[in-house]
Amino acid sequence: MTIAQTPVSLRRPIDGRHRQMFVDGAWVDARSGRTMETRNPATGAVIATVPRSDRQDIELAVAAARKAFDGPWSRFKPYERQVLLLKIADLFEKHWEEISRSDTTDMGMPIVRTRANRNRVIGMLRYYAGMATSLHGETIENSLPGEIVSFTRKEPVGVVGAIIPWNAPTAASIWKIGPALATGCTVVLKPSEEAPLTPLLIADIMNEAGVPPGVVNIVTGTGAEAGAALAEHMGVDKIVFTGSTATGQSIVRASAGNLKRVSLELGGKSPVIVCADADLDRAVPVAAMSVFANSGQICIAGSRLFVERSIHDEFVERLAAHAKGLRIGDGIDPATEIGPLVSEKQLQRVASYLEAGTAEGATLVTGGTRLVEGALAAGNFVAPTVFAHVTDDMKIAREEIFGPVISALPFDTLDEAVERANNTPYGLAAGVFTRNVATAHQLSRKIRAGSVWVNTYHAIDPAVPFGGYKMSGYGREGGVEHLDEYLNTKGVFIKID
Ligand code: NAD
Repeated sequence: MTIAQTPVSLRRPIDGRHRQMFVDGAWVDARSGRTMETRNPATGAVIATVPRSDRQDIELAVAAARKAFDGPWSRFKPYERQVLLLKIADLFEKHWEEISRSDTTDMGMPIVRTRANRNRVIGMLRYYAGMATSLHGETIENSLPGEIVSFTRKEPVGVVGAIIPWNAPTAASIWKIGPALATGCTVVLKPSEEAPLTPLLIADIMNEAGVPPGVVNIVTGTGAEAGAALAEHMGVDKIVFTGSTATGQSIVRASAGNLKRVSLELGGKSPVIVCADADLDRAVPVAAMSVFANSGQICIAGSRLFVERSIHDEFVERLAAHAKGLRIGDGIDPATEIGPLVSEKQLQRVASYLEAGTAEGATLVTGGTRLVEGALAAGNFVAPTVFAHVTDDMKIAREEIFGPVISALPFDTLDEAVERANNTPYGLAAGVFTRNVATAHQLSRKIRAGSVWVNTYHAIDPAVPFGGYKMSGYGREGGVEHLDEYLNTKGVFIKID
């Protein structure tokens, strides 16, 4: 195997040693002293232990975030927050290779992909930096008797609890921390227990940039302990959550105690509609990678592939050929296109869907198995899988698999395709392939999802809002709307006569 040769300035080598978490500007362990392991999913090796925090650690982190919010951080001017964000962006540039390797080693995403995320993540930081000095209220003419001036102020919502999944730790962390710093909030971020290492590296970068103590706290632990304690904490003003729909629902319930604000980026079962007039040379690889990239562990995976009947068989054949040609292996090898699933648990989950697909009568065209040849045996590898003759009622067509599994479903008319595409509790994203501009407009209007991509997929930009319809969540990340999620609007009236 060719290991990446790019030089890297190692701040925190991944060498199996214990890592502490970051609270109030200091590196600390859980008060209980408990720890948990994190593994490299390509090799099964334990690569670090981290604190397994619980309610008492969350208590300390929230107290630190509150103290910083009310204290020194509240005196930072927008320009100073902007400078800080730009400095963080520069440090991300400097340490990007280490960040990439950290994600690849901790959660398996191929290094070609973690490296390629560079511009997106650094672009996000610079976008938020720009927004820090663009926040403003409005002067509003009122119709009250006498002379009263009325205007709005945009104020930071306060202490934000951020809970993220394991499938894109760097981008998810920055999507939460960036707007908090831009608006003047403070954050307690709980990474996934499956992939805590890069968020800890990010804490190091925040420290190096000069983010004051307590403004960004990274607390490691499980969802049931640390995550639940954060979600229900009475001192947290807002929860920003990315993860599964089921956990999102429990977070909404936990938020009821103090009616904290909540925004949710949840799961999906996104449709991709391929019309007979599409450019198939373009559509086949994009449709394939809409699911196979990151081994299907992508919330926007285009896992329901609706193909117009006249091209269905040819399309499925070409898709399967593409799937078979993908290079599978340890993501640290720059030649790897498909890495492992994040954990043994996720492997078992995906395996249960592979069994269900066959049991319910779908045709397995390619894949469908765990890969155990040679070095792959030590990791959680599943072959990119295509099922054909899938019907809408099958489990594999209804439920989010979060693995490299595509279900191909033929359709006859566009109205039928739209109706079936929308027949899901989710509404995160959708893809359309067509050369007809009218079809492109019609379908992008009719599909009920937060993002629709035509003749492309996975396009995400810091300036364009991203988020869900229906049970894929509420609130938006990206764009001006994102900042509003972290702000309260205050109406002020001043009598001047
Ligand atoms: P998950 O919901 O199991 O866990 C996400 C996070 O929530 C983790 O940090 C976990 O520790 C924490 N958590 C678990 N139970 C909790 C509880 N009761 N209270 C508070 N926190 C709790 O999700 P996952 O398996 O890590 O990630 C996969 C899911 O995330 C998929 O459904 C995927 O679609 C979704 N996802 C959505 C987006 C998006 O932007 N819409 C992006 C990535 C992933």
